[in-house]
Amino acid sequence: MFREVVQVITSHRQTEGGGFVVRRPFPTPGFAHADPFLLLDEMGPVEYRPGEAIGAPDHPHRGFETVTYVLEGEAEHADSAGHRGRIGPGDVQWMTAGRGVVHAEMPSRVMHERGGRMHGFQLWVNLPARDKMVPPRYQEIPSSSIPSASTPDGLATVRVIAGEALGARAQIETRTPIGYQHWRFEAGAALEVPLPRAHAAYVYVFDGSVAVAGRTLQAGQFAVLGAGDTVPFAASDLGQALLLSGIPLGEPVVQYGPFVMNTAHEIEQAILDYRAGRLGAIDHAEPPQGEHT
Ligand code: FE
Repeated sequence: MFREVVQVITSHRQTEGGGFVVRRPFPTPGFAHADPFLLLDEMGPVEYRPGEAIGAPDHPHRGFETVTYVLEGEAEHADSAGHRGRIGPGDVQWMTAGRGVVHAEMPSRVMHERGGRMHGFQLWVNLPARDKMVPPRYQEIPSSSIPSASTPDGLATVRVIAGEALGARAQIETRTPIGYQHWRFEAGAALEVPLPRAHAAYVYVFDGSVAVAGRTLQAGQFAVLGAGDTVPFAASDLGQALLLSGIPLGEPVVQYGPFVMNTAHEIEQAILDYRAGRLGAIDHAEPPQGEHT
């Protein structure tokens, strides 16, 4: 039994603040989150001139995970738990904020100085109540360690960021079962991708167009899929999409900006802890990794 498209959300590209270009399929009015996911941002694609690239300086998170996947450009991460990293095309950072971190997500210095093209995604993965206060963790997966596989006809290729597809298994460790697949389809591609029945499933098309269960989605469209065993994809032209899946948590979501907990009381505690400095601070005296030039 294949999964039908039950809802389509059309996101629009918009410019935030000082020139940060994003397309955000959710949250959006009328569609708060896609359990177990809380947010999806497509950053760019945008061409920055020298000095123009901007990021998100020191800010806190508690109660969920932020996953950054870079397609073009270069981003840097530093956090109060002492994790540092720089990721480029094809790389992934999977940060478990857990009980809390303060982190900074910035374009690399080279990117800031010289400018360049930036394109990528940030996905927020919710944590179940039992894991919201786990110690912060940071997993950095270079592009070379992200498995990919193609269909026998070569018309569909997947990079597996989390979970498994076409026999390729990701090395990322997730707190609950999560599937995060980046598909690229050539004209004529047609296949059915199996997914565990217990997973909720979502497709975000970000390039060209892709047909999901007979429904053609254009770049910028996000689809909520119904129950079933497989996701039928077809392409009559070039298209790229993210296939996201996971077991829905089915727990209350109380969000205040960068904190996502289960109760209002837990949010108040997060704010108190942050104000009291208990989420720590980034040691800016230490140069970012790989920047000793
Ligand atoms: Fe952040």
